[in-house]
Amino acid sequence: MEQDHSKIMVSPPPKLSQKSQTNWLEETKQIWKLYVAIMGFGGTLCAYLAGGLLLAAGPEYSGTVFTLGTLLGLATFAWVVNVIRCPHCQSKLLWVMIKTRSHSSWIVELAALESCPTCQTNLVGPLQRVKRIQ
Ligand SMILES: [Zn+2]
Repeated sequence: MEQDHSKIMVSPPPKLSQKSQTNWLEETKQIWKLYVAIMGFGGTLCAYLAGGLLLAAGPEYSGTVFTLGTLLGLATFAWVVNVIRCPHCQSKLLWVMIKTRSHSSWIVELAALESCPTCQTNLVGPLQRVKRIQ
């Protein structure tokens, strides 16, 4: 009876995907852009509230404040859409999510992205292409 000394090569078990607390926006140092955008939209909201209060003072004041608030909101939106990008393919991920996901969940899905919907590169952990599951 021959003894089998050959070791069975066991590949290390695949690491369980750790649910890290950091999301890709933090990991790629882009979270500040989201905060700036929140402040911009907050400013828009404040301008609208102030404009509403100024209605008593006269439409010329409130009109200016409403216009400034709207411009701030539009500028903030245009900016944040352009700057939140995949670090690999530079795809405008915020815009991709707005276009492709439901309007009620796109921001949650954006923050929870694990790979780029455009180039399939991992956004969390080391940048590497994820095999596209056929
Ligand atoms: Zn990408």
